[in-house]
Amino acid sequence: MSDLTDLTIAEARGKLRAGELSAGELTEACLGAVEASGELNAFVHKTPEIAREQAAAADARLKAGDAPDLCGIPLGIKDLFCTKGVASQAGSAILDGFKPEYESTVTRQLFEAGAVMLGKLNMDEFAMGSSNETSTYGNVVNPWRAGNSEAALTPGGSSGGSASAVAARLCLGATGTDTGGSIRQPAAFVGITGLKPTYGRCSRWGIVAFASSLDQAGPMTKDVRDAAIMLGAMAGHDPMDSTSADLAVPDFEAALTGDIRGKVVGIPKEYRMEGMPQEIEDLWTRGKEMLRDAGAELRDISLPHTKYALPAYYVIAPAEASSNLARYDGVRFGHRAKLSQGDGITEMYEKTRAEGFGDEVKRRVMVGTYVLSAGFYDAYYNRARKVRTLIKRDFEQAFDSGIDTILTPATPSAAFELGQTFDDPVQMYLNDVFTVTVNLAGLPGIAVPAGLDSKGLPLGLQLIGRPWEEGDLLNTAYCLERSAGFVEKPSRWW
Ligand code: GLN
Repeated sequence: MSDLTDLTIAEARGKLRAGELSAGELTEACLGAVEASGELNAFVHKTPEIAREQAAAADARLKAGDAPDLCGIPLGIKDLFCTKGVASQAGSAILDGFKPEYESTVTRQLFEAGAVMLGKLNMDEFAMGSSNETSTYGNVVNPWRAGNSEAALTPGGSSGGSASAVAARLCLGATGTDTGGSIRQPAAFVGITGLKPTYGRCSRWGIVAFASSLDQAGPMTKDVRDAAIMLGAMAGHDPMDSTSADLAVPDFEAALTGDIRGKVVGIPKEYRMEGMPQEIEDLWTRGKEMLRDAGAELRDISLPHTKYALPAYYVIAPAEASSNLARYDGVRFGHRAKLSQGDGITEMYEKTRAEGFGDEVKRRVMVGTYVLSAGFYDAYYNRARKVRTLIKRDFEQAFDSGIDTILTPATPSAAFELGQTFDDPVQMYLNDVFTVTVNLAGLPGIAVPAGLDSKGLPLGLQLIGRPWEEGDLLNTAYCLERSAGFVEKPSRWW
Protein backbone atom coordinates (compact mmCIF):
# COMPACT_ATOMS: atom_id res chain seq x y z
CA MET A 1 0.00 0.00 0.00
CA SER A 2 1.39 3.38 -0.86
CA ASP A 3 0.71 6.44 1.26
CA LEU A 4 -1.16 7.86 -1.70
CA THR A 5 -3.62 5.00 -2.12
CA ASP A 6 -4.26 5.09 1.63
CA LEU A 7 -5.57 8.66 1.46
CA THR A 8 -9.25 9.28 2.01
CA ILE A 9 -11.12 11.27 -0.62
CA ALA A 10 -11.22 14.26 1.74
CA GLU A 11 -7.46 14.08 2.39
CA ALA A 12 -6.65 13.71 -1.29
CA ARG A 13 -8.99 16.61 -2.13
CA GLY A 14 -7.05 18.81 0.28
CA LYS A 15 -3.65 17.83 -1.12
CA LEU A 16 -4.80 18.19 -4.71
CA ARG A 17 -6.24 21.63 -4.12
CA ALA A 18 -3.12 22.70 -2.21
CA GLY A 19 -0.97 21.59 -5.13
CA GLU A 20 0.89 19.05 -2.92
CA LEU A 21 -0.23 16.20 -5.14
CA SER A 22 -1.32 15.90 -8.75
CA ALA A 23 -4.23 13.86 -10.05
CA GLY A 24 -1.70 12.20 -12.37
CA GLU A 25 0.45 10.97 -9.47
CA LEU A 26 -2.52 9.76 -7.47
CA THR A 27 -3.96 7.98 -10.49
CA GLU A 28 -0.64 6.24 -11.25
CA ALA A 29 -0.42 5.03 -7.65
CA CYS A 30 -3.90 3.53 -7.90
CA LEU A 31 -3.29 2.03 -11.35
CA GLY A 32 -0.17 0.38 -9.94
CA ALA A 33 -2.18 -1.10 -7.08
CA VAL A 34 -4.87 -2.31 -9.47
CA GLU A 35 -2.23 -4.02 -11.64
CA ALA A 36 -0.57 -5.71 -8.67
CA SER A 37 -3.74 -6.98 -7.01
CA GLY A 38 -4.93 -9.47 -9.61
CA GLU A 39 -5.42 -12.17 -6.98
CA LEU A 40 -8.42 -10.23 -5.61
CA ASN A 41 -10.18 -10.31 -9.00
CA ALA A 42 -11.84 -7.01 -8.09
CA PHE A 43 -11.28 -5.09 -11.34
CA VAL A 44 -12.63 -6.91 -14.37
CA HIS A 45 -12.27 -4.22 -17.05
CA LYS A 46 -9.38 -1.85 -16.50
CA THR A 47 -9.43 1.56 -18.14
CA PRO A 48 -5.94 3.05 -17.62
CA GLU A 49 -6.13 5.21 -20.77
CA ILE A 50 -9.39 6.79 -19.68
CA ALA A 51 -8.00 7.23 -16.17
CA ARG A 52 -4.89 9.02 -17.44
CA GLU A 53 -6.93 11.26 -19.71
CA GLN A 54 -9.35 12.16 -16.92
CA ALA A 55 -6.45 12.75 -14.51
CA ALA A 56 -4.82 15.16 -16.98
CA ALA A 57 -8.11 17.01 -17.38
CA ALA A 58 -8.48 17.11 -13.59
CA ASP A 59 -5.00 18.54 -13.20
CA ALA A 60 -5.88 21.27 -15.68
CA ARG A 61 -9.04 22.08 -13.71
CA LEU A 62 -7.13 22.10 -10.44
CA LYS A 63 -4.63 24.50 -11.93
CA ALA A 64 -7.41 26.74 -13.15
CA GLY A 65 -8.93 26.78 -9.65
CA ASP A 66 -12.06 24.98 -10.83
CA ALA A 67 -11.90 21.87 -8.67
CA PRO A 68 -15.13 20.26 -7.55
CA ASP A 69 -14.92 17.82 -4.62
CA LEU A 70 -14.06 14.77 -6.70
CA CYS A 71 -11.65 16.48 -9.06
CA GLY A 72 -8.79 14.05 -9.64
CA ILE A 73 -10.14 11.34 -7.32
CA PRO A 74 -9.64 7.78 -8.69
CA LEU A 75 -12.72 5.61 -8.35
CA GLY A 76 -13.81 2.11 -9.29
CA ILE A 77 -17.18 1.66 -10.99
CA LYS A 78 -19.38 -1.37 -10.43
CA ASP A 79 -19.89 -3.29 -13.66
CA LEU A 80 -23.64 -2.64 -13.35
CA PHE A 81 -23.22 1.00 -14.45
CA CYS A 82 -23.26 1.65 -18.17
CA THR A 83 -20.09 3.49 -19.09
CA LYS A 84 -19.86 4.80 -22.61
CA GLY A 85 -17.64 2.71 -24.86
CA VAL A 86 -16.44 0.60 -21.92
CA ALA A 87 -17.54 -2.99 -21.27
CA SER A 88 -20.54 -3.02 -18.94
CA GLN A 89 -21.61 -6.60 -18.38
CA ALA A 90 -23.35 -6.63 -15.00
CA GLY A 91 -21.15 -9.63 -14.20
CA SER A 92 -22.99 -11.69 -16.80
CA ALA A 93 -21.90 -13.70 -19.82
CA ILE A 94 -25.09 -12.70 -21.59
CA LEU A 95 -23.69 -9.17 -21.89
CA ASP A 96 -20.37 -10.36 -23.35
CA GLY A 97 -19.04 -7.71 -25.66
CA PHE A 98 -21.65 -5.10 -24.68
CA LYS A 99 -20.22 -1.60 -24.75
CA PRO A 100 -22.94 0.97 -24.13
CA GLU A 101 -23.41 3.97 -26.40
CA TYR A 102 -24.31 6.06 -23.38
CA GLU A 103 -23.18 6.95 -19.88
CA SER A 104 -25.27 6.27 -16.77
CA THR A 105 -26.41 9.45 -15.03
CA VAL A 106 -24.51 8.62 -11.84
CA THR A 107 -21.18 8.03 -13.62
CA ARG A 108 -21.73 11.07 -15.83
CA GLN A 109 -22.22 13.21 -12.74
CA LEU A 110 -19.13 11.71 -11.09
CA PHE A 111 -17.03 12.43 -14.16
CA GLU A 112 -18.41 15.96 -14.43
CA ALA A 113 -17.28 16.42 -10.84
CA GLY A 114 -13.78 15.47 -12.01
CA ALA A 115 -13.61 11.84 -10.86
CA VAL A 116 -11.18 9.46 -12.55
CA MET A 117 -12.35 5.97 -13.57
CA LEU A 118 -9.79 3.21 -12.99
CA GLY A 119 -12.04 0.51 -14.38
CA LYS A 120 -15.09 -1.65 -13.83
CA LEU A 121 -15.57 -3.72 -10.71
CA ASN A 122 -16.60 -7.32 -10.34
CA MET A 123 -20.03 -8.15 -8.93
CA ASP A 124 -22.55 -10.95 -8.64
CA GLU A 125 -24.33 -11.61 -11.91
CA PHE A 126 -27.04 -8.95 -12.34
CA ALA A 127 -26.41 -8.07 -8.66
CA MET A 128 -28.00 -11.33 -7.52
CA GLY A 129 -26.00 -12.75 -4.67
CA SER A 130 -24.36 -12.09 -1.33
CA SER A 131 -20.88 -13.51 -1.89
CA ASN A 132 -19.77 -12.42 -5.36
CA GLU A 133 -19.63 -16.03 -6.42
CA THR A 134 -22.30 -15.79 -9.12
CA SER A 135 -20.16 -13.56 -11.35
CA THR A 136 -19.20 -14.70 -14.84
CA TYR A 137 -15.72 -13.35 -14.08
CA GLY A 138 -15.31 -15.66 -11.08
CA ASN A 139 -15.45 -14.74 -7.42
CA VAL A 140 -13.80 -11.75 -5.76
CA VAL A 141 -11.48 -12.33 -2.81
CA ASN A 142 -11.76 -10.39 0.43
CA PRO A 143 -8.40 -8.77 1.35
CA TRP A 144 -8.98 -9.79 4.99
CA ARG A 145 -7.99 -13.16 6.46
CA ALA A 146 -9.35 -14.79 9.61
CA GLY A 147 -6.66 -15.13 12.26
CA ASN A 148 -3.75 -17.17 10.94
CA SER A 149 -5.85 -18.95 8.36
CA GLU A 150 -5.00 -18.49 4.71
CA ALA A 151 -8.50 -19.53 3.57
CA ALA A 152 -9.94 -17.07 1.05
CA LEU A 153 -13.05 -15.27 2.28
CA THR A 154 -15.91 -13.69 0.41
CA PRO A 155 -16.04 -9.88 0.30
CA GLY A 156 -19.83 -10.21 0.32
CA GLY A 157 -22.05 -9.27 -2.57
CA SER A 158 -23.29 -8.19 -4.86
CA SER A 159 -20.91 -5.18 -4.79
CA GLY A 160 -18.01 -7.44 -3.78
CA GLY A 161 -15.52 -5.97 -6.26
CA SER A 162 -16.29 -2.47 -5.00
CA ALA A 163 -15.86 -3.56 -1.38
CA SER A 164 -12.63 -5.45 -1.95
CA ALA A 165 -11.11 -2.66 -4.07
CA VAL A 166 -11.80 0.07 -1.51
CA ALA A 167 -10.68 -2.05 1.46
CA ALA A 168 -7.45 -3.08 -0.31
CA ARG A 169 -6.72 0.55 -1.20
CA LEU A 170 -6.90 0.07 -4.97
CA CYS A 171 -9.16 3.10 -5.38
CA LEU A 172 -10.28 5.92 -3.10
CA GLY A 173 -13.95 5.08 -3.43
CA ALA A 174 -16.33 3.00 -5.52
CA THR A 175 -19.89 3.00 -6.71
CA GLY A 176 -22.18 0.23 -5.55
CA THR A 177 -25.83 -0.62 -5.94
CA ASP A 178 -28.13 -2.00 -3.30
CA THR A 179 -31.36 -3.89 -4.01
CA GLY A 180 -31.50 -5.88 -0.78
CA GLY A 181 -28.20 -5.10 0.92
CA SER A 182 -25.55 -5.21 -1.80
CA ILE A 183 -23.78 -2.06 -0.63
CA ARG A 184 -24.13 -2.49 3.13
CA GLN A 185 -23.36 -6.22 3.50
CA PRO A 186 -20.11 -6.18 1.48
CA ALA A 187 -19.06 -2.91 3.17
CA ALA A 188 -19.52 -4.61 6.55
CA PHE A 189 -17.57 -7.70 5.39
CA VAL A 190 -14.48 -5.67 4.45
CA GLY A 191 -14.51 -2.93 7.10
CA ILE A 192 -15.56 0.07 5.00
CA THR A 193 -18.53 2.45 4.88
CA GLY A 194 -21.44 1.74 2.51
CA LEU A 195 -24.47 3.97 2.05
CA LYS A 196 -27.74 3.08 0.37
CA PRO A 197 -29.57 6.37 -0.19
CA THR A 198 -33.32 6.89 -0.10
CA TYR A 199 -34.99 5.29 -3.14
CA GLY A 200 -35.06 8.02 -5.78
CA ARG A 201 -32.08 10.01 -4.46
CA CYS A 202 -29.76 8.79 -7.25
CA SER A 203 -30.91 8.27 -10.80
CA ARG A 204 -31.19 4.67 -11.98
CA TRP A 205 -30.80 5.72 -15.60
CA GLY A 206 -28.09 3.67 -17.27
CA ILE A 207 -27.79 1.22 -14.38
CA VAL A 208 -28.58 -2.33 -15.49
CA ALA A 209 -31.89 -3.09 -13.79
CA PHE A 210 -32.33 -5.93 -11.31
CA ALA A 211 -35.49 -5.05 -9.33
CA SER A 212 -36.48 -1.54 -10.33
CA SER A 213 -38.57 -0.68 -7.27
CA LEU A 214 -35.69 -1.60 -4.95
CA ASP A 215 -32.45 -0.77 -6.82
CA GLN A 216 -30.50 2.24 -5.62
CA ALA A 217 -26.94 3.36 -6.28
CA GLY A 218 -24.69 4.57 -3.50
CA PRO A 219 -21.09 5.21 -2.43
CA MET A 220 -18.66 2.73 -0.87
CA THR A 221 -15.79 4.54 0.82
CA LYS A 222 -13.13 4.35 3.49
CA ASP A 223 -15.08 6.55 5.86
CA VAL A 224 -18.30 8.45 6.46
CA ARG A 225 -17.02 11.83 5.27
CA ASP A 226 -16.06 10.31 1.94
CA ALA A 227 -19.52 8.77 1.64
CA ALA A 228 -21.04 12.23 2.15
CA ILE A 229 -18.75 13.73 -0.49
CA MET A 230 -19.40 11.01 -3.05
CA LEU A 231 -23.15 10.98 -2.48
CA GLY A 232 -23.23 14.72 -3.16
CA ALA A 233 -21.86 14.09 -6.64
CA MET A 234 -23.98 11.01 -7.37
CA ALA A 235 -27.36 12.35 -6.24
CA GLY A 236 -29.87 14.60 -7.95
CA HIS A 237 -33.00 14.74 -10.02
CA ASP A 238 -32.86 13.22 -13.48
CA PRO A 239 -35.67 13.59 -15.99
CA MET A 240 -34.48 10.32 -17.54
CA ASP A 241 -35.62 8.38 -14.46
CA SER A 242 -39.25 8.96 -13.53
CA THR A 243 -38.61 7.60 -10.03
CA SER A 244 -35.78 10.02 -9.33
CA ALA A 245 -36.90 12.63 -6.82
CA ASP A 246 -37.11 16.26 -7.81
CA LEU A 247 -35.43 17.45 -4.63
CA ALA A 248 -32.45 19.70 -4.09
CA VAL A 249 -29.27 17.89 -3.10
CA PRO A 250 -28.19 19.19 0.30
CA ASP A 251 -24.56 19.61 1.33
CA PHE A 252 -24.20 16.22 3.01
CA GLU A 253 -20.69 16.92 4.21
CA ALA A 254 -21.83 20.06 6.00
CA ALA A 255 -24.23 17.88 8.00
CA LEU A 256 -21.27 16.15 9.69
CA THR A 257 -21.25 18.25 12.85
CA GLY A 258 -20.60 15.32 15.18
CA ASP A 259 -23.44 16.55 17.37
CA ILE A 260 -26.28 14.07 17.95
CA ARG A 261 -27.37 15.32 21.35
CA GLY A 262 -31.10 14.91 21.76
CA LYS A 263 -31.47 12.60 18.77
CA VAL A 264 -33.65 9.57 19.42
CA VAL A 265 -32.24 6.22 18.29
CA GLY A 266 -34.64 3.31 17.97
CA ILE A 267 -33.56 -0.24 18.84
CA PRO A 268 -35.93 -2.67 17.12
CA LYS A 269 -36.46 -5.83 19.14
CA GLU A 270 -37.23 -7.91 16.04
CA TYR A 271 -33.61 -7.59 14.90
CA ARG A 272 -32.50 -9.79 17.77
CA MET A 273 -32.54 -12.99 15.74
CA GLU A 274 -32.54 -16.46 17.14
CA GLY A 275 -29.15 -18.06 16.79
CA MET A 276 -27.44 -14.72 16.22
CA PRO A 277 -23.76 -14.99 17.24
CA GLN A 278 -22.96 -13.46 20.63
CA GLU A 279 -20.33 -11.30 18.94
CA ILE A 280 -22.95 -9.56 16.83
CA GLU A 281 -25.13 -9.03 19.89
CA ASP A 282 -22.14 -7.57 21.79
CA LEU A 283 -21.27 -5.28 18.89
CA TRP A 284 -24.83 -3.99 18.83
CA THR A 285 -24.68 -3.34 22.57
CA ARG A 286 -21.44 -1.42 22.15
CA GLY A 287 -23.01 0.59 19.33
CA LYS A 288 -25.90 1.57 21.58
CA GLU A 289 -23.47 2.68 24.30
CA MET A 290 -21.49 4.75 21.83
CA LEU A 291 -24.57 6.61 20.64
CA ARG A 292 -25.81 7.10 24.19
CA ASP A 293 -22.41 8.45 25.26
CA ALA A 294 -22.58 10.87 22.34
CA GLY A 295 -25.79 12.28 23.75
CA ALA A 296 -28.50 10.36 21.89
CA GLU A 297 -31.51 8.90 23.64
CA LEU A 298 -32.08 5.18 23.08
CA ARG A 299 -35.60 3.87 22.79
CA ASP A 300 -36.81 0.28 22.33
CA ILE A 301 -39.12 0.00 19.37
CA SER A 302 -41.02 -2.71 17.54
CA LEU A 303 -41.09 -3.27 13.79
CA PRO A 304 -43.51 -6.20 13.93
CA HIS A 305 -43.48 -7.24 10.27
CA THR A 306 -39.70 -7.66 10.07
CA LYS A 307 -39.93 -11.44 9.98
CA TYR A 308 -41.82 -11.33 6.69
CA ALA A 309 -39.27 -9.12 4.97
CA LEU A 310 -37.00 -11.80 3.52
CA PRO A 311 -39.82 -13.91 2.05
CA ALA A 312 -41.48 -10.78 0.62
CA TYR A 313 -38.19 -9.60 -0.86
CA TYR A 314 -37.50 -12.98 -2.42
CA VAL A 315 -40.86 -12.79 -4.19
CA ILE A 316 -40.77 -9.14 -5.27
CA ALA A 317 -37.13 -8.97 -6.37
CA PRO A 318 -37.28 -12.10 -8.60
CA ALA A 319 -40.67 -10.97 -10.00
CA GLU A 320 -39.20 -7.66 -11.14
CA ALA A 321 -35.99 -9.34 -12.27
CA SER A 322 -37.83 -11.85 -14.44
CA SER A 323 -39.49 -8.96 -16.23
CA ASN A 324 -36.35 -6.78 -16.47
CA LEU A 325 -34.21 -9.63 -17.77
CA ALA A 326 -36.64 -10.50 -20.55
CA ARG A 327 -34.76 -8.02 -22.74
CA TYR A 328 -31.69 -10.27 -22.93
CA ASP A 329 -32.77 -12.34 -25.88
CA GLY A 330 -29.76 -12.40 -28.20
CA VAL A 331 -31.27 -9.74 -30.44
CA ARG A 332 -30.24 -6.45 -28.95
CA PHE A 333 -27.42 -6.80 -26.43
CA GLY A 334 -24.28 -8.86 -25.99
CA HIS A 335 -24.17 -12.58 -26.48
CA ARG A 336 -26.05 -14.57 -29.12
CA ALA A 337 -25.91 -18.37 -29.19
CA LYS A 338 -24.66 -20.17 -32.29
CA LEU A 339 -27.68 -21.61 -34.03
CA SER A 340 -28.15 -24.89 -35.83
CA GLN A 341 -29.80 -25.46 -39.14
CA GLY A 342 -33.54 -25.14 -38.77
CA ASP A 343 -33.40 -23.08 -35.58
CA GLY A 344 -35.85 -20.21 -35.49
CA ILE A 345 -36.25 -17.15 -33.29
CA THR A 346 -37.56 -19.20 -30.35
CA GLU A 347 -34.50 -21.45 -30.41
CA MET A 348 -32.30 -18.39 -30.56
CA TYR A 349 -33.93 -16.93 -27.43
CA GLU A 350 -33.77 -20.25 -25.62
CA LYS A 351 -30.20 -21.11 -26.48
CA THR A 352 -28.93 -17.60 -25.84
CA ARG A 353 -30.58 -17.38 -22.43
CA ALA A 354 -29.56 -20.92 -21.46
CA GLU A 355 -25.93 -20.16 -22.31
CA GLY A 356 -25.80 -16.58 -21.15
CA PHE A 357 -27.39 -16.70 -17.70
CA GLY A 358 -25.84 -18.41 -14.70
CA ASP A 359 -27.70 -20.69 -12.29
CA GLU A 360 -28.69 -18.05 -9.73
CA VAL A 361 -30.12 -15.77 -12.41
CA LYS A 362 -32.05 -18.66 -13.92
CA ARG A 363 -33.39 -19.54 -10.48
CA ARG A 364 -34.62 -15.96 -9.97
CA VAL A 365 -36.17 -15.77 -13.44
CA MET A 366 -38.03 -19.02 -12.80
CA VAL A 367 -39.21 -17.96 -9.32
CA GLY A 368 -40.20 -14.55 -10.66
CA THR A 369 -42.12 -15.95 -13.60
CA TYR A 370 -43.87 -18.39 -11.29
CA VAL A 371 -45.02 -15.79 -8.75
CA LEU A 372 -46.29 -13.57 -11.55
CA SER A 373 -48.14 -16.35 -13.35
CA ALA A 374 -51.92 -16.10 -13.58
CA GLY A 375 -52.64 -18.84 -11.04
CA PHE A 376 -50.20 -17.63 -8.37
CA TYR A 377 -50.12 -13.86 -8.75
CA ASP A 378 -52.48 -13.20 -5.86
CA ALA A 379 -51.06 -15.87 -3.62
CA TYR A 380 -47.46 -14.70 -3.92
CA TYR A 381 -46.82 -11.42 -5.69
CA ASN A 382 -49.82 -9.48 -4.43
CA ARG A 383 -49.41 -10.84 -0.94
CA ALA A 384 -45.73 -9.84 -0.93
CA ARG A 385 -46.69 -6.35 -2.02
CA LYS A 386 -49.12 -6.08 0.88
CA VAL A 387 -46.44 -7.25 3.28
CA ARG A 388 -44.14 -4.62 1.83
CA THR A 389 -46.68 -1.93 2.66
CA LEU A 390 -46.89 -3.20 6.23
CA ILE A 391 -43.11 -3.17 6.58
CA LYS A 392 -43.01 0.39 5.32
CA ARG A 393 -45.76 1.34 7.76
CA ASP A 394 -43.79 -0.15 10.68
CA PHE A 395 -40.98 2.28 9.92
CA GLU A 396 -43.35 5.21 9.38
CA GLN A 397 -44.94 4.60 12.76
CA ALA A 398 -41.51 4.47 14.40
CA PHE A 399 -40.47 7.75 12.80
CA ASP A 400 -43.84 9.34 13.64
CA SER A 401 -43.29 8.41 17.28
CA GLY A 402 -40.17 10.57 17.31
CA ILE A 403 -37.42 8.13 16.30
CA ASP A 404 -34.70 9.82 14.23
CA THR A 405 -32.47 6.84 13.44
CA ILE A 406 -32.61 3.09 13.93
CA LEU A 407 -29.55 1.08 14.98
CA THR A 408 -29.18 -2.59 14.02
CA PRO A 409 -26.36 -4.99 13.17
CA ALA A 410 -25.44 -4.82 9.47
CA THR A 411 -25.04 -8.55 8.92
CA PRO A 412 -25.73 -11.71 10.91
CA SER A 413 -22.09 -12.84 10.62
CA ALA A 414 -18.62 -11.75 9.59
CA ALA A 415 -17.26 -12.66 6.13
CA PHE A 416 -17.43 -16.39 5.48
CA GLU A 417 -15.24 -18.70 3.41
CA LEU A 418 -15.72 -18.81 -0.32
CA GLY A 419 -17.58 -21.93 -1.38
CA GLN A 420 -19.18 -22.37 2.04
CA THR A 421 -22.80 -21.52 1.28
CA PHE A 422 -22.72 -21.31 -2.46
CA ASP A 423 -24.83 -24.40 -3.07
CA ASP A 424 -27.39 -23.45 -0.42
CA PRO A 425 -29.41 -20.52 -1.76
CA VAL A 426 -31.70 -20.23 1.25
CA GLN A 427 -28.73 -19.99 3.62
CA MET A 428 -27.24 -17.39 1.30
CA TYR A 429 -30.45 -15.34 1.33
CA LEU A 430 -30.25 -15.10 5.14
CA ASN A 431 -27.32 -12.69 4.73
CA ASP A 432 -29.82 -9.99 3.86
CA VAL A 433 -31.97 -10.39 6.94
CA PHE A 434 -31.07 -6.96 8.41
CA THR A 435 -30.84 -5.06 5.16
CA VAL A 436 -33.80 -5.95 2.91
CA THR A 437 -36.37 -4.16 5.08
CA VAL A 438 -34.67 -0.86 4.22
CA ASN A 439 -35.04 -1.44 0.46
CA LEU A 440 -38.63 -2.61 0.82
CA ALA A 441 -39.41 0.64 2.66
CA GLY A 442 -37.29 2.81 0.34
CA LEU A 443 -35.28 4.24 3.25
CA PRO A 444 -31.65 5.32 3.50
CA GLY A 445 -29.32 2.93 5.37
CA ILE A 446 -25.62 2.94 6.08
CA ALA A 447 -23.15 0.30 7.26
CA VAL A 448 -20.26 1.53 9.38
CA PRO A 449 -17.33 -0.64 10.50
CA ALA A 450 -17.54 -0.88 14.27
CA GLY A 451 -15.21 -3.63 15.46
CA LEU A 452 -13.52 -6.96 14.86
CA ASP A 453 -14.72 -10.43 15.74
CA SER A 454 -12.60 -12.91 17.67
CA LYS A 455 -10.88 -13.99 14.44
CA GLY A 456 -9.95 -10.42 13.60
CA LEU A 457 -12.58 -9.90 10.90
CA PRO A 458 -14.52 -6.65 10.58
CA LEU A 459 -18.11 -6.33 11.76
CA GLY A 460 -20.46 -3.52 10.84
CA LEU A 461 -23.41 -1.74 12.38
CA GLN A 462 -26.30 -0.42 10.34
CA LEU A 463 -28.10 2.87 10.84
CA ILE A 464 -31.45 3.45 9.13
CA GLY A 465 -32.71 6.99 8.59
CA ARG A 466 -35.85 8.88 7.72
CA PRO A 467 -36.48 9.26 3.99
CA TRP A 468 -34.42 12.07 2.43
CA GLU A 469 -32.53 12.61 5.69
CA GLU A 470 -29.20 11.22 4.51
CA GLY A 471 -27.43 14.22 6.06
CA ASP A 472 -28.76 13.39 9.49
CA LEU A 473 -28.05 9.70 8.96
CA LEU A 474 -24.49 10.41 7.89
CA ASN A 475 -23.98 12.60 10.94
CA THR A 476 -25.10 9.83 13.29
CA ALA A 477 -22.86 7.42 11.38
CA TYR A 478 -20.01 9.91 11.78
CA CYS A 479 -20.48 9.85 15.57
CA LEU A 480 -20.54 6.07 15.58
CA GLU A 481 -17.41 5.98 13.45
CA ARG A 482 -15.57 8.36 15.76
CA SER A 483 -16.51 6.40 18.88
CA ALA A 484 -15.75 3.03 17.31
CA GLY A 485 -12.36 4.29 16.15
CA PHE A 486 -12.04 1.50 13.60
CA VAL A 487 -8.55 1.83 12.12
CA GLU A 488 -7.65 -1.77 11.35
CA LYS A 489 -6.69 -2.63 7.79
CA PRO A 490 -6.85 -5.86 5.87
CA SER A 491 -3.84 -8.15 5.67
CA ARG A 492 -3.63 -7.73 1.89
CA TRP A 493 -2.91 -4.50 0.10
CA TRP A 494 -0.77 -3.21 -2.69
N1 GLN B 1 -28.21 -10.48 -1.75
C1 GLN B 1 -29.43 -9.95 -2.23
C2 GLN B 1 -29.88 -10.69 -3.46
O1 GLN B 1 -29.24 -11.60 -3.82
C3 GLN B 1 -29.32 -8.49 -2.47
C4 GLN B 1 -28.65 -8.17 -3.74
C5 GLN B 1 -28.57 -6.70 -4.01
O2 GLN B 1 -28.79 -5.88 -3.13
N2 GLN B 1 -28.31 -6.39 -5.27
O3 GLN B 1 -30.87 -10.39 -4.04
